[in-house]
Amino acid sequence: MDCLFCKIAAGEIPSTKVYEDEFVYAFLDIEPQAPFHAIIIPRQHISGADKINGENSILIAKVFEAVAKIAEKENLEKGFRVVNNCGEEGGQTVGHIHFHLLARRNLAWPPG
Ligand code: AMP
Ligand code: ZN
Repeated sequence: MDCLFCKIAAGEIPSTKVYEDEFVYAFLDIEPQAPFHAIIIPRQHISGADKINGENSILIAKVFEAVAKIAEKENLEKGFRVVNNCGEEGGQTVGHIHFHLLARRNLAWPPG
């Protein structure tokens, strides 16, 4: 499958690794929107949040376990934001589900 994030998880396209385990890979965003901006993905290809189901939702739990581990490792005790963009109007540009982990600045709400 021709998927950018599958290739990054497989190490076929270089990235700056932040965290990895059996289920999850996390790396720095190339266009950071905050002083700390990581992308967290399940290694298994899921195209978007609209395709989460009873078979694959354990992988999303693994993503959020990784969020907590990264937050501890990176000393994000002041807070952070996890964002998922889904579909065209949601602003999704890469068709492999991913979660942005943004931190180290005040994050506006609502996000716009
Ligand atoms: P989204 O717009 O929610 O689909 O997010 C896709 C994100 O992937 C954007 O923030 C991009 O900057 C980021 N991105 C695209 N290509 C790469 C890459 N090769 N390495 C790291 N981040 C990337
Ligand atoms: Zn993929």
